[in-house]
Amino acid sequence: MRNAFNLGELFGIQFRLHYTWFIIFILITVSFSWQLFPSSYPEWPLTLHWVMGIVTSLLFFASLLAHELAHSLVGRANDIPIKSITLFIFGGVAQMTREARSAGAELKMAAAGPACSLAIAGLFYSVSLLTQNAIVPAAAIAFQLAYINIALAVFNLIPGFPLDGGRVFRSILWQVTGNYKLSTRIATRVGQGTGYLFILGGILIVFLQPFGLDWFSGLWLAFIGWFLGNAASASYRQAQWRGALQGFTASQVMASDYPVVPLSITVSQLVQGYIFTSGHGCFLVADEGGVRGILTLPDIKSVPQPNWGVTQVKDIMTPLDKLKMAHLDQNALSILEQMDEGNINQMPVVSDDRVVGLITRDNLIRLLRTRSELGI
Ligand SMILES: [Zn+2]
Repeated sequence: MRNAFNLGELFGIQFRLHYTWFIIFILITVSFSWQLFPSSYPEWPLTLHWVMGIVTSLLFFASLLAHELAHSLVGRANDIPIKSITLFIFGGVAQMTREARSAGAELKMAAAGPACSLAIAGLFYSVSLLTQNAIVPAAAIAFQLAYINIALAVFNLIPGFPLDGGRVFRSILWQVTGNYKLSTRIATRVGQGTGYLFILGGILIVFLQPFGLDWFSGLWLAFIGWFLGNAASASYRQAQWRGALQGFTASQVMASDYPVVPLSITVSQLVQGYIFTSGHGCFLVADEGGVRGILTLPDIKSVPQPNWGVTQVKDIMTPLDKLKMAHLDQNALSILEQMDEGNINQMPVVSDDRVVGLITRDNLIRLLRTRSELGI
């Protein structure tokens, strides 16, 4: 997810905040401070309403983080590495670098989030009971948080992929049918259907305003529905892509006509003699003994232009021993996963300790695009 900035790291997982998060943060704070708390406790001062609103919002987002963290830690324990967690307008999303290998692992990981939210709800409910006669504002906040966390768990348990409930649903289908692709397709259809129902419900609420609901709730529901439908389609496409890559090995997707440049030329020579003429952005660097390293455009950009004439490519290349390598018969999906995990865009392919090809992310994406255009 772009347009997100880093908050920091916890348990080796990067936490990020998308700019749309601020919209929902303000909306929730305002609705608590301006509507909910004043209507329940009109005798309390305005400042107290706002303090309570802000505290509720912050604790709500902490609950959301805990929910995502539960997915991530259970995922990691089941061999599904998690790179980052991003909070955005509709909640949180954990970025996995690969999908679950088994139905059981997927089930545990998907169920962990809602289970965590329910546990948090129970905790807040106990706090509200304990404080209701002593610190009434704290009890009011805790009660709201118990309610919100239950809502969060219930919403996420809707059986439409890619919501948690959709993943639980898929893992059960997967377990029963043994067919990952079919299970994903069914769970996605349910996800898209749920999205359409939400949009329809939202439109009905806007025009009919039943049960005292206003046009804003309708619009919001429709917006969530639109998001759900889109997310379902996007996740399905991704699953299809992964399936498509699984059928290929490195030897089938690598480029063997990769550009090779000599170890001792300067950056100027490289730019004029190779980049301008070939248009390539990634080079293998070699001498008589074979390939020694890899050089990409960002490496070149890291050298100030006036120094291009005196800097040799061997000084700025990434040497082979620092690179991740693919094996000739490794499947293309696991190569893409390794690229995602290491944040890299290219991997040399080796056979008998010799570099025989180069796989770039662009290669893989082009292959997928061609396949989807041919409809295979
Ligand atoms: Zn979740």
